[in-house]
Amino acid sequence: MSRKIKISLLPGDGIGTEISKQALKIINWVNDNFEYEIEVLEDYVGGIAIDQFGSPLTNETLIKLKQSDAILLGAVGGPKWENLSFEKRPERGLLKIRKELDLFANFRPAIVFDSLIQASSLKPQFISNLDLLIIRELTGGIYFGEPRGIKEIGDGKRVGINTLVYASDQIERIANVAFEAASKRSKKLCSVDKANVLESTELWRDVISETSKKFPDIEVTNMYVDNAAMQLVRNPKQFDVIVTTNMFGDILSDCASMLTGSLGMLPSASLGVDRKTGKKYAMYEPVHGSAPDIAGKNMANPLAMILSVSMMFEYSFANIDIANFINKSINTILEKGYRTIDIKEDNQTQVTTEEMGDLVLKELMNEKI
Ligand code: NAD
Repeated sequence: MSRKIKISLLPGDGIGTEISKQALKIINWVNDNFEYEIEVLEDYVGGIAIDQFGSPLTNETLIKLKQSDAILLGAVGGPKWENLSFEKRPERGLLKIRKELDLFANFRPAIVFDSLIQASSLKPQFISNLDLLIIRELTGGIYFGEPRGIKEIGDGKRVGINTLVYASDQIERIANVAFEAASKRSKKLCSVDKANVLESTELWRDVISETSKKFPDIEVTNMYVDNAAMQLVRNPKQFDVIVTTNMFGDILSDCASMLTGSLGMLPSASLGVDRKTGKKYAMYEPVHGSAPDIAGKNMANPLAMILSVSMMFEYSFANIDIANFINKSINTILEKGYRTIDIKEDNQTQVTTEEMGDLVLKELMNEKI
């Protein structure tokens, strides 16, 4: 019997619309070839929602998102909405989803496709076969801690304040997610902190160590963030799964993603659990933004978005076969030399967004299932 699943698709702004159309082709292929009855509910977030409803995320949309099994988002933002006040900007829609669904675990894989090895700024031997996963705590830490703000303190002086605070239960839940992810991979987990100078991350290290007792087969190491940044560029293949705080994860995941050489190739997942009902929430999206400079030109690389679909089937629907089919098809297309403009080098065939989506689909249709 087919499993019914509801996917909320939020194309958003800029290239979000174009890459979402390509993702939809892949979702339809899954629907036609596997035991799923997939309902795709398209909705508005970001600038387009501001234009339509005066808000970057309406409560009606939020309710529908909470009822779906997974969310797939294109990107939000663009120059049209840049002059709005902070609270009304498109990005607030995205932050509201993260907050309301308590999407506390952000998964950012950095995988190097062999055929794109030249796109990295590192030498091939350091990145060939690179496959690492950074897990960033997403709803706590210095980006949310109180007190915060800019205050007058007299004599014409002002102070800017942010507070790095973590409670042990916040650390424990991200630690559990990270240990579980490591147990499905090479059983190596590196926790990144700054425990030598920041007490909140001293607690982080303690809780990681306590949690590790539940996962005796995982080899855990701890690393200070400055060293981790250096090691990521020096020898990234020493890592498999990295878990870290919100701000350190923000910085390290951007650094790791660029090891792969292309923003247009990087998917992400943000996962959470409703504390009251236990319902799992998940949002999948490319790492890149709405790329206003190329929006509407059929030039955007849709592969990060298609890889986000792959992650969705792996993480939300525990179907690694579908993820493997999608990843393999993308690899084959790249090996055949097809490229969107952002990853194109000499002697390769340049294709549009639409054509890239069709090529991946065609490759999938040739698969024996
Ligand atoms: P960006 O990621 O949109 O673009 C950076 C550069 O990379 C641009 O030159 C763009 O053309 C290129 N690029 C990005 N994705 C591409 C793709 N798939 N194919 C080919 N080229 C691609 O970052 P930005 O320019 O700093 O931000 C533009 C807007 O996107 C801003 O409004 C920003 O707030 C928003 N943004 C949204 C998200 C999100 O929705 N998650 C993330 C980052 C930025």
